[in-house]
Amino acid sequence: MKLTLSRLAVALLSAVGAAAQDADSVITTRAPLLALTHAKLIDGRGTAPRDDQTIIVRAGRIAEIGATSAVAIPTGAQTLDLTGKTVLPGLVMLHEHLYFTSRASTTAPFHVNEMDFSFPRLYLACGLTSVRTGGSIEPYTDLELKMRINRGVLPGPKLHLTAPYLEGFPSAIAQLHNVDDPADAVRLVNFWADKGFTSFKLYMHLAADSARAAIEAAHARGLKVTGHIGALTYREAAELGIDNLEHGFYAATDFVRGKKSGELPQPAAVAGSQDELDVNAPAVAALIQFLIDRHVALTSTLPVFEASVPGRPILTARELDCLAAPARENYLRTWARVNGPNDGRAVATWRKMLALEKKFFDAGGLLVAGTDPTGYGATIAGHGSLREVELLVEAGLTPVAAIQVASYNGARWLGVEKDVGSIEPGKAADLVVVAGDPAKTIADIRQIETVFKDGVGYDAKKLLDSVKGHVGIQ
Ligand SMILES: [Zn+2]
Repeated sequence: MKLTLSRLAVALLSAVGAAAQDADSVITTRAPLLALTHAKLIDGRGTAPRDDQTIIVRAGRIAEIGATSAVAIPTGAQTLDLTGKTVLPGLVMLHEHLYFTSRASTTAPFHVNEMDFSFPRLYLACGLTSVRTGGSIEPYTDLELKMRINRGVLPGPKLHLTAPYLEGFPSAIAQLHNVDDPADAVRLVNFWADKGFTSFKLYMHLAADSARAAIEAAHARGLKVTGHIGALTYREAAELGIDNLEHGFYAATDFVRGKKSGELPQPAAVAGSQDELDVNAPAVAALIQFLIDRHVALTSTLPVFEASVPGRPILTARELDCLAAPARENYLRTWARVNGPNDGRAVATWRKMLALEKKFFDAGGLLVAGTDPTGYGATIAGHGSLREVELLVEAGLTPVAAIQVASYNGARWLGVEKDVGSIEPGKAADLVVVAGDPAKTIADIRQIETVFKDGVGYDAKKLLDSVKGHVGIQ
């Protein structure tokens, strides 16, 4: 017995050792002193891009930034000439998941698989150096992943974890717990906060009394609460003190005709309210201003909705390559159905939702960006995240503003903007090197070559190659 146990221990230890070596194989540089020269710089603060800049990185932090002609390269620095390339801040995105929703057939129930191998790599490969998860399915795996990433055993972004969903009754997903009552909500918040979760997410059916109790319990510990709500309207959640609302205005039930207090309307009723919605109505402007006055941030998660709008592009070959065969087949089948005969309502709603996010941003609201890699499997961690930045530009933001939403704004919500979210001296060297100029052509943001996290450079292509065919399985 003893022998068996120690053999098991050896096997486990060598597995961890192999994983650490594997993490090293995707690293291109970990020089203590780095000079990135001749780069175009987009700093993440919304300021105009600057040409021919040099960034000095010392011990993982940004030591100096300036025109290449004005910055002295310290002796012993490893120098990377980035002529023709742009450096952006590592992205900080807030509706991420470490799981993927997929099913082998349309008759199988909705199921969620943890993507503990592929998603941390995909996020990092696509330039996300900090992410907040948006609700947990396997909380202990999430905690363990965070620890392994922090120890350098696994490649991945800095994780800010949201606890398992606080959902009411009756949840459509068997993997979610239904909160019994306000006392249960308080117990859950404290239990998961003790384990290391730093934010909480209210879900669609949660009742107002439990929502209020959860928000108070989280705030008492200095932690924040977001929500993909529905039984509660956006205005009601803001009145209760929620810090963030997910999915732009797609999840708002404020304009559903005859909505009963505390009841989640049927999807058809929500769709009907979206058909009728006039984005220029005074009631819409009033809701936007109410959210801003209450300091409620709004997370844009456009890619997951785009997948159900006809006439939108199919996934690229690079994205399809990530998917395991059953997930790819399910995606292609569903995409074909979405792009079959339709009544045009989804397109009309899509345009309204883009307009509303732009209005929220223009009015001074804290718009943040997320991927939400769920739905029918069309939205893939990392790739979908970059699509989100492109779609913010489609909504009317400038590329520089869209990048700010996906970097500095996320850091602000997390309260880590002194450390990450923009390229400024003193901050962590979380940097993304792309070929081309996303300030002119936002699609260039997909041409990522190297991602630096705390000054350690990761090879984006190697990370992507390592997860081919994995998404949907692990
Ligand atoms: Zn989500």
